[in-house]
Amino acid sequence: MSTESVESVEDFRSRARTWLAANMPRLEDRDTSLDDPENDDASWARTRELQKLLWSGGFAGIAFPREYGGLGLTREHQRAFSAESAPYEMPLRINVPTLAICAATILDMGSEQQKRDRIGAALRGDELMVQFLSEPRGGSDLAGVTTKAERDGDVWILNGAKIWSSGAYAADYGLCLVRTDWSVPKHAGLTMFLVPVHEKGVTIRRIRQVNGSTEFCEEFFDDVMLPADAVVGEVNGGWAVASRQLYWERTAMGGGSPYVSGVGRGVSSVADQPLWALADEVGRLDDPKVRELIGESRAIHLVQEHLVRRVTAGLAGGHLPGPSASMTRLFHAETDWRDSDIRLEIAGSAAVTGPLEEPGPGKVGEFFLNRQAGSLGGGSTEMARNVISERVLGMPREYAADRDVPFNQVKQGKA
Ligand SMILES: Cc1cc2nc3c(=O)[nH]c(=O)nc-3n(C[C@H](O)[C@H](O)[C@H](O)COP(=O)(O)OP(=O)(O)OC[C@H]3O[C@@H](n4cnc5c(N)ncnc54)[C@H](O)[C@@H]3O)c2cc1C
Repeated sequence: MSTESVESVEDFRSRARTWLAANMPRLEDRDTSLDDPENDDASWARTRELQKLLWSGGFAGIAFPREYGGLGLTREHQRAFSAESAPYEMPLRINVPTLAICAATILDMGSEQQKRDRIGAALRGDELMVQFLSEPRGGSDLAGVTTKAERDGDVWILNGAKIWSSGAYAADYGLCLVRTDWSVPKHAGLTMFLVPVHEKGVTIRRIRQVNGSTEFCEEFFDDVMLPADAVVGEVNGGWAVASRQLYWERTAMGGGSPYVSGVGRGVSSVADQPLWALADEVGRLDDPKVRELIGESRAIHLVQEHLVRRVTAGLAGGHLPGPSASMTRLFHAETDWRDSDIRLEIAGSAAVTGPLEEPGPGKVGEFFLNRQAGSLGGGSTEMARNVISERVLGMPREYAADRDVPFNQVKQGKA
């Protein structure tokens, strides 16, 4: 697209404002029963419905290239749209991992066919994607996966197990990192596959969490047949694809992805309730301690916003190395922890005794049960600190007994 034909951000913003007001439901009218973990299937159906609405209005995939179904505009256009969309019910659950992680990775590393098929279908609201990375043996040592695929003529046969896959049961395709060569060191023998989630041989089990959610899944792959064109990138080049995926994951977790349908959390309205409204509800708006907490939260969020902008600009301009996205990922988790603590402090005993109405003090207690999720999802904060120290600050790498050792000679599950 030539520079002349690009719609200015301000024109785009005003066109988006008009369209949103005429077409998208207001946030205050949304059906909050969809936040109930028991209604998860209905919540995913609603996500698809809202994404279809965005697509039909011509506002889906603002920063994705036009040839794959997007609008081919800039991250500033996306930021303007996201800001305008804040008062509306948006298909936020499609952001992570479908658009901001999986589609972004396919855009960078996939074949032309994969880009056209998978990105287009996601933008139309027809398909959702999931990440099949973590395994029961541990998620931090991602390059040590033992789920395997073996070549059999024209097809690959997949066997193994994955776990902690958010929303797998509702998804259509999974980006699945597996071992295809055991005779080379761990990073060199991996391949990324696009696996149809409901293919013969895939068994999905939902895991119930302490807060009642069954969002997490574990999957078992038993002789799943995959065609050769299910490979994303190169055979045995899966680590390059996974690295790009982790980059997009950190970027998304840090709030810096341009590939979103809007901003916000999309799962629970607890975190979106203004703190002053919560304080008002529990009769503590005049409490000086509470006012201090509200101020602290505001300050942290402002710092986060500026950090995201600075790191995003640094990455785009090449002033910061790719692993710097771990800084926003780490700060995002710390912001979430503090937010969760502050909400609990303000709600006080009502967090335990209050009614479980959304949003409200009773839900704050339930929300607190999920406090640690943000420090593991998207890779743990400890691993983010490792990345920052080793690959941004250039500090010495930690010792690894399996470095440069053929994977079939690495001791598995032994001291
Ligand atoms: C909300 C949420 C969503 C998720 N979604 C997905 C998903 O969609 N798909 C998917 O595949 N996975 C997903 N996960 C799993 C997530 O990626 C893993 O939980 C994470 O990578 C850590 O792996 P683990 O839980 O197996 O912990 P482990 O790897 O067993 O680690 C245990 C602890 O040891 C620490 N540790 C491990 N190695 C080191 C080291 N070298 N240096 C310092 N500390 C270390 C870790 O930080 C952690 O605290 C999700 C998790 C959460 C909480």
